[in-house]
Amino acid sequence: MTASRFTLVAIVLVFLGLTDLRSQGTLVFTGVNVIPMDEERVLRGQTVVIDAGRIVSIAPEADADVPGGAQVIEAEGHYLMPGLAEMHAHMPGQGDDRQYREDVAFLYLANGVTLARSMLGAPVHLQLRQQLADGSVDGPRLISAGPGLGGNVQTPADGIRIARQQAEAGYDLLKIFWGMPLDAFNAMAEAAHAANIEFSGHVPGSVGVPRALEAGYSTIDHFDAYMPTLVDPEETEGVDGGFFGYRLAPYAQPDRLQAIVEKTKEAGVWNVPTETIIHSAFAVDLETVREERSEFRYMPQNIVDGWINWVTNFRNESHYDQEAGDAFIQVRLDLIKALHDAGAGLLLGSDAPQWFNVPGFSVHREMAVMESAGLTPYEVLVTGTVNPAKYLGEEDVFGKIAEGFKADLVLLRANPLEDLANAQAIEGVVRHGRWFSRDALDERLEEIAGPNR
Ligand SMILES: [Zn+2]
Repeated sequence: MTASRFTLVAIVLVFLGLTDLRSQGTLVFTGVNVIPMDEERVLRGQTVVIDAGRIVSIAPEADADVPGGAQVIEAEGHYLMPGLAEMHAHMPGQGDDRQYREDVAFLYLANGVTLARSMLGAPVHLQLRQQLADGSVDGPRLISAGPGLGGNVQTPADGIRIARQQAEAGYDLLKIFWGMPLDAFNAMAEAAHAANIEFSGHVPGSVGVPRALEAGYSTIDHFDAYMPTLVDPEETEGVDGGFFGYRLAPYAQPDRLQAIVEKTKEAGVWNVPTETIIHSAFAVDLETVREERSEFRYMPQNIVDGWINWVTNFRNESHYDQEAGDAFIQVRLDLIKALHDAGAGLLLGSDAPQWFNVPGFSVHREMAVMESAGLTPYEVLVTGTVNPAKYLGEEDVFGKIAEGFKADLVLLRANPLEDLANAQAIEGVVRHGRWFSRDALDERLEEIAGPNR
């Protein structure tokens, strides 16, 4: 069969819905500057061949053949980098509208997010995970936590039962909340390890960070429960820490910070800081946020209103302490920098769609905050590409641009290593080898914004 007849047959099959769009055809980028993420460098003027969802070859343009019948993207002057991960994502749940769930999945993708770790699961997410994997829903690869473990785990028997149930149901991890007594937590942790399912998230007050590190958390999210480890308990006796312990921030001591950073590094536990929600709580200007954040148009109005109400009420509480909030933001930036310098693992995660975090868009805001902690653009990009692959034990599978790696990629109009903001200059996204052009992304984004305007 000739190439053109083959293409015609393929188009007819797709039209009839008889074949999976994603796995068909070869995709080639020509003249593209590759950011491989194996070290800080750019390979200029490359031809990148992608087939069956994998990167087949990367070679200087002069040495490369373009396979006949391939879809060719001429990308001179553009930059190809691995897709980003949102490691503290949320997907609309069981009770939410299916269209909203699929819109959220697309918002991640349209922002270059090709992996989302959903941090509060429901049975519908197992189905969504499959649909995202087979391409029947457009969006990132999904890693899904099960329903939360917190106040529902009161005894060791509860902990063991729920850990086993969620492993059996096929969730990728357990999401830990507060309200669990220590003995129940310990039993849960042991059962989770035995069932080969990881646990991540919040750190119950009964547990605390030192025990969490010993117990083998995979990730601690939001730096939860770190604040009490940074202060002298005598000096802060009677201080009500409040929201993530923020009122303890003015008492934080650098030597204690360094000590817990070392322990975190030794334990090999990852942190997902989610700084943007902290900024939302304490720093975002409520007067201007609606007009400044044009991405709000992609969210249902009631969600945006809910965010504004929550933060307004939070700041109107009688014991709200702005100074402590400002100190809290600074201590957390210090913690990010110290963890990074110590070689402890950081993962990119913003906690969307929580307060002002529109899925996908908020990952770029999170990267800007991480840069403000003192990381270079390259170091920030590592937290969203190479590190998530390490976290999943898939270092040789995704997160870099190399032969044999997954073709989950982003094409940018400018170099993000020079300016992280360029990671938003998205010309297109490749998800499992399938090309979503800027026009295709915009078309769907307009549909998503449509009913909200
Ligand atoms: Zn969350």
